Amino acid sequence: MKKILEITFILLFLCLFTVGCGKNKEPMDLLDSIQQRGILVVGVSSDIVPFGYKNANNEYEGFEIDLAKQIAKLLLYDENKIEFVSVEPANRIMMLNSGQADMIIATMTITPKRMNVVDFSNSYYNAGQTALVNDKSKIKSLSDLANKKVGVAFGTTAFDGIKEVVPTANLVGFKTYQQAINALKAEEIDAFALDDTILIGYAMKDKSLRMLNQRYTQEPYGIAFRKGIESARTLELVNNFLVVLNSTGTLNAMKNKWIK
Ligand code: GLU
Repeated sequence: MKKILEITFILLFLCLFTVGCGKNKEPMDLLDSIQQRGILVVGVSSDIVPFGYKNANNEYEGFEIDLAKQIAKLLLYDENKIEFVSVEPANRIMMLNSGQADMIIATMTITPKRMNVVDFSNSYYNAGQTALVNDKSKIKSLSDLANKKVGVAFGTTAFDGIKEVVPTANLVGFKTYQQAINALKAEEIDAFALDDTILIGYAMKDKSLRMLNQRYTQEPYGIAFRKGIESARTLELVNNFLVVLNSTGTLNAMKNKWIK
């Protein structure tokens, strides 16, 4: 009997101890964990020319890739201590919050809605939304999109953006940009709404596509971090770094290198 009581007490003690430890367990500071790991893991796009894409050698390149390498240099003193993971608009917040990336640099607009679930750096680029149509289409301006089928990629700001300016547009969701482009070319949709900085890449590559000359939103791009104190130190460093990149003209030079 005494033995059973003893064992019960030991078990109870262990239980309390474990619960107590669980409660006090705080997420590790992001900067500490990046520096301990010795590699910065950044979520980037793999199909957005010229922001983040894979070249013919299957290597990531683009303006945001260069920016990510600069941040690796800042945090780990070596721009090659970096690993890129490919993210899509529809999965990037989940990938960030589940720890699959330390930060996301992927044409991600800073919005009040998203600020509820992630922390953003200051903006490093300003885009705006517009629509892409077939060159031979009669659509010349936003008002021509009334009652038309407009493609939007899941997880992008285009859903809210186009509804606000053309409430009668019939939105059609796509998983990837390429699927929306294919549907546009096959005339299954009348237009594809997205940031002008992304659409221009498609319009320049394919002369059968035309971009409308109207920007109807502001899309300030920010670097996204997991929300909370664990990211605070890294976020502050990155924000100060963006100020330096801006004031020294480095950010502009990086933009000019990629964005014509
Ligand atoms: N900038 C827009 C957004 O954050 C569209 C581009 C993208 O999603 O990557 O939703």
